[in-house]
Amino acid sequence: MWTELIDEVRQQQAAMDMLSAAWISDYTAGGGRIHCGRGCRGCCSLAVSTTMTEAVAIAGALSEAQAEAVWQQVERLRKKIGPVQDIKGYLRMHRQEIGFCSLLAEDGACGIYSLRPLSCRALLSTKESRWCGVDFSQVSAEEKRAFVESLDRSVVSFPLHYVASTQEMGQEMESRASRRMADCCGFSLYGSLPVLVHLVLEYGLDRACADGHGAAVKCIEWSGLNNPFLLHLEF
Ligand code: SF4
Repeated sequence: MWTELIDEVRQQQAAMDMLSAAWISDYTAGGGRIHCGRGCRGCCSLAVSTTMTEAVAIAGALSEAQAEAVWQQVERLRKKIGPVQDIKGYLRMHRQEIGFCSLLAEDGACGIYSLRPLSCRALLSTKESRWCGVDFSQVSAEEKRAFVESLDRSVVSFPLHYVASTQEMGQEMESRASRRMADCCGFSLYGSLPVLVHLVLEYGLDRACADGHGAAVKCIEWSGLNNPFLLHLEF
């Protein structure tokens, strides 16, 4: 089952790369600028979410050192997630206390570039990378105003500086991947990239999903990571 779902999601990822390259080419031809590039890593400090299928593909390709880094990040999340009350609080906690994606390589490039999830592929920045990692609660009102005024509202998902159309395409492809998982398992799973990868590596969540909803829920509960900010199970 997973082999087939992974093949399909890889096709979606390849399509995403082609569509976003075409979008960048049109935008830059019209005088716009996209600031993403190897090693800029600003967006890798965000809380990254992914589909279960992409997590299974990534888990199967990690080195021991990468799996260890994922485990460490999940342990940090486990310790910090308890008091979180809402999504804003989760994103703030993630940015301030969890740090960069555990799959970021030492040279600042993505350590799983060819396998990176759709959510990473879809994020294109119309501003310098420092704006991707910025904590807006620490930015002065004047700077915030200047930032907002500088945005190209015809393309961004205002008031953020990321390109709206590629994000929408990525979300559509993620929904398709989730629907395909639901066709096979009767439910789909979406959530934190490190948590899903860790659950596959350490708890066999991929096998549990193939055994059905009950087995998957049991596996997630056993891990102690059944938190609504980390995992979403849908029918
Ligand atoms: S998977 Fe790669 S691109 Fe995505 S957040 Fe992690 S290091 Fe960055």
